Amino acid sequence: MTTGTPGPRQIDTSTAHPARVYDWLLGGKDNYPVDEAVGQRLPAEAAAGARQNRAFMNRAVAWLAAQGVDQFLDIGTGIPTEPNLHQIVQRIVPTARIVYTDNDPIVLRHAEALLVGRPEGATQYVEADVRDPAAIIKNARQTLDFDRPIALSLIALMHFINDDQDPYGLVSNLLATLPSGSYLVLSHASSDIFPELSAQVTAEYAKGGIRLGFRDRAGVERFFEGLELVEPGLVTATEWFKDGEAPAPEESGIYAGVARLP
Ligand code: SAH
Repeated sequence: MTTGTPGPRQIDTSTAHPARVYDWLLGGKDNYPVDEAVGQRLPAEAAAGARQNRAFMNRAVAWLAAQGVDQFLDIGTGIPTEPNLHQIVQRIVPTARIVYTDNDPIVLRHAEALLVGRPEGATQYVEADVRDPAAIIKNARQTLDFDRPIALSLIALMHFINDDQDPYGLVSNLLATLPSGSYLVLSHASSDIFPELSAQVTAEYAKGGIRLGFRDRAGVERFFEGLELVEPGLVTATEWFKDGEAPAPEESGIYAGVARLP
């Protein structure tokens, strides 16, 4: 099921788009020369960051599914990259229900790949902007039961929302719709772990017309205000793991955390 903004929107191949640059960084094929041009100018660490971020997503949602969480609202989904969130989760809980959201028309174009899940479960794609939480929630209610815990995943999304766009207010509005026992899964590029690299990445995206707002530790921690961070707390993407499946030790400039709504 796909819902959201009506009408097909054109794919703009004249300017770079975040979802497509990220796809290029992950070695995907759903990007255009403008996106590749931004990607090529980025330091090598950017591709490592994308891979580490994706691996964190994989571990975090698998852990949540193993805790019995069977409803997921994923905003800023990106172009499908296997394994997608629903595949990871439905391998553990076949009846899991997942709502994906992105505001980029290229993701909508590839949404079919996000909708092929286990018949016992359900997936939905909503074309919407995280800056319009009301539209997201209204659509997501078609698939998710907001009286039962939901994991809200904002993976490598919020650094696209600048301080003048009320990032913290948006996240707290979304969390306010979720019942106790729900979770927030969030990763975010840092400005303070490798400050020079971060500045370089921000500058290259800006040249491509994409405004990034990487944040420092305190700025990322603020998204978790009022929530109970689960172990190991707010760490880097390669440091977040559970149950002994330790990833290879590797430096990462991505903050990552999972927290429970009291
Ligand atoms: N969550 C995926 C993809 C991250 S790339 C992963 O971590 O693997 C960031 C995604 O956020 C892109 O697909 C981009 O299109 C989307 N995005 C950026 N700004 C957005 C906004 N305002 N509303 C919704 N999605 C947005």
